[in-house]
Amino acid sequence: MEFLLTEEQKMLKEMVAKFASEKIGPVASENERNHRYPKEIIAEAAELGLMGIAYPTEYGGAGMDYVSYFLAVEEVSRWCASTGVIISAHSSLACDPIYRFGTEEQKQRFLPDLLSGKKIGAFSLTESEAGSDSSNTKTVARKDGNKWVINGSKLFATNGNEADVFILIARSGENKHNLSAFIVERNMPGYRIGKLEKKLGIRSSSTAEIILEDVVIPEENLLGEISKGFKLSMVTLDGGRLGIASQALGIARASIEDSIKFAKERVQFDQPIANFQAIQWMIADMWTEYESALLLTWRASMMKDRGMNYSREAAMAKLKASEVAMFCANKAIQIHGGYGYTEDFNVERYYRDAKITELYEGTSEIQRLVISRSLIGKI
Ligand SMILES: Cc1cc2nc3c(=O)[nH]c(=O)nc-3n(C[C@H](O)[C@H](O)[C@H](O)COP(=O)(O)OP(=O)(O)OC[C@H]3O[C@@H](n4cnc5c(N)ncnc54)[C@H](O)[C@@H]3O)c2cc1C
Repeated sequence: MEFLLTEEQKMLKEMVAKFASEKIGPVASENERNHRYPKEIIAEAAELGLMGIAYPTEYGGAGMDYVSYFLAVEEVSRWCASTGVIISAHSSLACDPIYRFGTEEQKQRFLPDLLSGKKIGAFSLTESEAGSDSSNTKTVARKDGNKWVINGSKLFATNGNEADVFILIARSGENKHNLSAFIVERNMPGYRIGKLEKKLGIRSSSTAEIILEDVVIPEENLLGEISKGFKLSMVTLDGGRLGIASQALGIARASIEDSIKFAKERVQFDQPIANFQAIQWMIADMWTEYESALLLTWRASMMKDRGMNYSREAAMAKLKASEVAMFCANKAIQIHGGYGYTEDFNVERYYRDAKITELYEGTSEIQRLVISRSLIGKI
């Protein structure tokens, strides 16, 4: 399928594949089982330019396109889905809204440190009563002269424990959709990290509660227009969903590649199990599903690069890729037999990691809502 890519995109993909297989792969399982954030790997990824692939060089980015960036997320996730989401949340959910909605002053102030990986970014929309229904946000931003004062608490922020810069969504008016986005910095008084989640998978990435008590935000940290934070979040999540689709593709490919290797090595009934048609068909189905999801993801990524509206296509890509990741990880364990259920093989990690792709940045039900609404309209 690489014939669809440009020479630059192929080179980037190859470079990231080499880095990920040599540097990330060997430590991924141990880090994940120990809930350890891969600090050194993120520093090396930053040196390679992976924390700012799709942004202009004038702000410190690598000046490449979104297709390249999503290819990189897949290659990294092939070896470690936690590292994949660390990069994806940083780039798609923190850098992207600043680049897309920020003033020139905000871009100059925040992007160079974020895109170089010197600082890590996070995005905080979810709350205890505002999950799929983000319009139910309770965190409040009150205008006080030329400042904003924020109170409330946020849940489940990926990179929350490491991030220096947060895109935070808070209620700035009475109306259901009166939400605004703010750039919150770690060192602001009144801001603190609450509970760190213990999770089924992607344990090398942090998922944090954020508590805000009278956090004073200067006017110049309002991101985008007042009360346009809901729209900003939805546009941001369109891009984020392609990051998650790419993460899911990485998990699916890992499941397939490990299964092929195992099936050729494992001997039962005096022959490699790869000789059995039951195994061959599982692998054929896994690859066919993977490439369907890959095509949907590349199409939506190419639409994003062309400045087209790609909301529905991003939802379709994320929906399909996440279900394919689950399907492939499940089959991978089946092919590995009992060994697949143990920590001696990576497929148990792929199975645990795959599940989150059906949940975050919009559950599969919410993706179906986005897709069907764009086809049928609101009833
Ligand atoms: C590891 C992890 C990392 C995360 N990272 C971030 C992050 O960085 N930033 C952030 O802001 N959030 C983050 N989240 C939050 C995540 O996006 C939400 O968990 C997700 O959107 C679902 O919200 P919820 O958990 O409240 O589920 P709910 O919205 O309560 O949904 C529960 C169930 O009801 C279904 N449902 C809800 N509404 C409808 C509907 N209208 N129609 C049909 N079914 C419906 C859902 O599909 C689901 O099956 C993260 C979550 C996790 C677990």
